[in-house]
Amino acid sequence: MVFCKNAVNSTRLFIETREVILMSYRVPGIVLEKHGQPPSLEQVVVHEPGANEVAVRMVASGICHTDLGAVRDARAVPILLGHEGAGVVEAIGVGVTHVQPGDHVVINWQVKCLKCRWCLSGRQDLCENVQATAAPRVYWRDQPLNLLLNAGTFCPIAVLPAMGAIPIRRDMPLDKAALLGCAVATGVGAALYTARVLPGQTVAVIGTGGVGLNIIQGARLANAGMIVAIDLDDDNLRLASAMGASHTVNSRQHDAVKTLRDLTQGRGMEHVFEVVGLSELMAQSIDMLSRGGALTLVGAAARDANMQFAPRRFMSQQQTIQGCIYGNIRPNIDLPLFADWYMSGALKLDELHTRDVRLEDLPDLFINREKLRGIRTIIQFGGAA
Ligand SMILES: [Zn+2]
Ligand SMILES: [Zn+2]
Repeated sequence: MVFCKNAVNSTRLFIETREVILMSYRVPGIVLEKHGQPPSLEQVVVHEPGANEVAVRMVASGICHTDLGAVRDARAVPILLGHEGAGVVEAIGVGVTHVQPGDHVVINWQVKCLKCRWCLSGRQDLCENVQATAAPRVYWRDQPLNLLLNAGTFCPIAVLPAMGAIPIRRDMPLDKAALLGCAVATGVGAALYTARVLPGQTVAVIGTGGVGLNIIQGARLANAGMIVAIDLDDDNLRLASAMGASHTVNSRQHDAVKTLRDLTQGRGMEHVFEVVGLSELMAQSIDMLSRGGALTLVGAAARDANMQFAPRRFMSQQQTIQGCIYGNIRPNIDLPLFADWYMSGALKLDELHTRDVRLEDLPDLFINREKLRGIRTIIQFGGAA
């Protein structure tokens, strides 16, 4: 165990056993106890990292739709929420060599095994053995807590498998870096890696929240031609223009399918991204596709949702529907790359970061969700950086 020298401002418990001294942190965390109820601020106990694990002192964590959706469909409760964040390495377990205490890191919530058939064949995005810590490290009421996406960043200390903490350059502000770990990774990755948008291609993005805006940004980085943002909210659409959309459509006022056809002399779009997660919108998206067009499903549909469509055109017009999780990124390569892009001015993040809150504000925000309108609400933990 190696600890950060300046890690002094947390309460630590020392639990002596016969052979070892275990160190743990008693800290607040946002816990969802039961489905359908808002989460609450609870005291949790976080144990030190084991071998090949890292403890991160969180500096900032974004509130993502997956956190909100967990209230409805988290796989297991009780669960500690939060998965998008950045912070400073607090402690490392035996065998960790890629970071040292004090390093600045982005949380990677999909740690690949690098051993399975998919990882070994160059498709680590398909890893069938995504890693968690070797044993539970967070306890509530003396019981192990589940962690959302093996992360649990709505807590001042997160313990992760080693590659759950990806080091980035120190001159990148950590509250901006937090966004790299989910919204940017998923959105920019969807455009660049899943759909592989090419220069000049036509792109439509349905739903311009944090992820949708980053798909627009990814399409801009790919030098796409026409980039059309579709949403019900004019404020979001204004942001979409700032992120690189060449056209915007408020689908409350205009028929989106007809508008896209009109914009392309009837051809439709080479890429359509559905980022809302509604099967009706997914089915409608098919009517937006050009010959050879690809529909990329990024929004998380309800687990029991179904979709109906006429499949014939996929044969005759050589179209594609594909799924996308975490933007098919390679976290250890792409998260530091995205940090470089932000620092060089290529990646826009300041426009996405709309509001700072404290951890204790979360239960109320989960109840009064209209307060989360705007793009990304960031929990600032204070201290570090
Ligand atoms: Zn997320
Ligand atoms: Zn694997």
